[in-house]
Amino acid sequence: MCGIFAVSLPGNEAGNLVLEGLKKLEYRGYDSWGVAIRQDSGEIILRKDVGKIKDVQIQFEMSGEAIGHTRWATHGGVTMANAHPHQVGKVTLVHNGIFENYLDVKSKYQDEGMGFRSDTDTEVIACMVNDFLEKGMSVAGAIRHSAEVIQGRFSLLVIAEGFPGIYAARRGSPLIIGRGETGTFIASDIPALLEHTNVVNYLDDDEMVHIEGNKAEFSSLISGDVIEKREVAVSWKAEQASKGDYQHFMIKEIFDQKKTLRDAIDHDDEKLHEAVELLQKSNGAYFVACGTAHKAAMCAEYYFAEISGRKINVVPASEMPSFERFINDKTAIIAVSQSGETADVLEILERGKKAGAKILALTNVESSSMARLADVHIPINAGPEKAVASTKATTAQMAILFLLAYADAGKLNLGREILSGTASAINDLINPRYENYVKDVAGKILNQKSLFIIGRGSLFPMALESAIKIQEVSYIHAQGFPAGELKHGPIALIEEGVPCLVLGDDQDTLSNAMEIKSRGAHIIGIAPKRAEVFDDWLKVPDCGQAQSIATIVPVQLLAYYLATFKGLDPDMPRNLAKSVTVK
Ligand code: GLU
Repeated sequence: MCGIFAVSLPGNEAGNLVLEGLKKLEYRGYDSWGVAIRQDSGEIILRKDVGKIKDVQIQFEMSGEAIGHTRWATHGGVTMANAHPHQVGKVTLVHNGIFENYLDVKSKYQDEGMGFRSDTDTEVIACMVNDFLEKGMSVAGAIRHSAEVIQGRFSLLVIAEGFPGIYAARRGSPLIIGRGETGTFIASDIPALLEHTNVVNYLDDDEMVHIEGNKAEFSSLISGDVIEKREVAVSWKAEQASKGDYQHFMIKEIFDQKKTLRDAIDHDDEKLHEAVELLQKSNGAYFVACGTAHKAAMCAEYYFAEISGRKINVVPASEMPSFERFINDKTAIIAVSQSGETADVLEILERGKKAGAKILALTNVESSSMARLADVHIPINAGPEKAVASTKATTAQMAILFLLAYADAGKLNLGREILSGTASAINDLINPRYENYVKDVAGKILNQKSLFIIGRGSLFPMALESAIKIQEVSYIHAQGFPAGELKHGPIALIEEGVPCLVLGDDQDTLSNAMEIKSRGAHIIGIAPKRAEVFDDWLKVPDCGQAQSIATIVPVQLLAYYLATFKGLDPDMPRNLAKSVTVK
């Protein structure tokens, strides 16, 4: 969450480049935005506002150095005063993360008579850095000293009056340094850098960097010792991170699935066997994930049970602390995350590693923190995913997990065959004519306040995922249930006309659909065959054991059209942000 961007280069375009960079990072947070620019006079000026940055058109003051931030508020409301950058004395700073013990430090400064302009934890960091600077430390020293005090994950950008260059520090939240010919860029994510360079350094935890023009000097955030960093060439292309002719990233990314499913499974056998070996050597395995990735992992629990007869526990990362006593040097932890930066998951992995557990990570961002922490990393190859609602990364995660279950059963080729058939079927499915069927259904349920989704087996986690997709972009209350569970309570909520999506056409699920239709529900079947009980039907191809992957695609389209028909922006739903780097 929160997007950070900085530029240091000769010339005077830094402010405008930061603004453009922030627009590319806005999916990480869009409560407010702000830019700090160092003017020729040396003075650092601020421009900030609440709301989204995407429509902001300003020609910024001429400058060769600037830092910026798009906020996803954690501490302090969405107000102008709380928008970053925060300025105290000579120090101007932006921050991603949470300063957990900020109230203790704030009250100490308040006792000394210091007044604060915002309610944020961030301003307290600016106050500390400035205080240490005033006490005679260098900027780097003041940041290091502040980092000793801060509890929690963070990344920071700092510019200070009278000290050239930009400083960045990281502990837990991502920062990537883009190396241009004449200048240097810093961003929280790769897509924002691609237009300028594809050569990067990944800043690791407890490291900092000072950039000035095309020079970047790395050092330890603990000792201050200089560090040599490797330059890495990134394979993503700038056009992959743009909307092209599509109106929104969400619909582009749904259509990208025509290709990404094939790319997902395009790994050499050796890599997959390495992952499976880690599982086979373990005694007890846990999937740890959040949100949609957690639903993909729940699906995989069914895949492994059915295909290779392996029981893997699935726990939402934030709930994992209750089960950590079972983690030891025999445990395998499988992390599933689009960004590879999800704070709740990272914490479990860090502690799991200390307990000796082996880590398998599936991430989309190749050099993410999780990828670097893992014993075995499998990239899901979905390309940049910008819409907050995950679509192509979800199906790519599911495809790889499905393949791993087949590899675990010693039948990798059969798994590949099934998925290749699924990829072709999805390719044929998504077309404008099919979109019209989905739009027709969306039009019928658009004004409903609530809807229910039922599924059985691996379609049950897809019922949960369908609910997330619909809630997050259309704001319709949606809830998923195991098909057989509805009659044990939730059926009381069914009244005349309430829509219910029925995933699948097996006899038991159809009987459950009939039970709720008898009480007035409007039944929308999402299944290979039309059934009598369906009032509306969205056909999906029959993909056998991989049915869950095909079934979620029409629901993604339905969620998209529900949002756009309601005039909502599906790429930036309210209160949400992509890449949740805070706990
Ligand atoms: N905790 C800070 C705030 O609420 C930073 C949030 C962020 O990562 O955007 O302003």
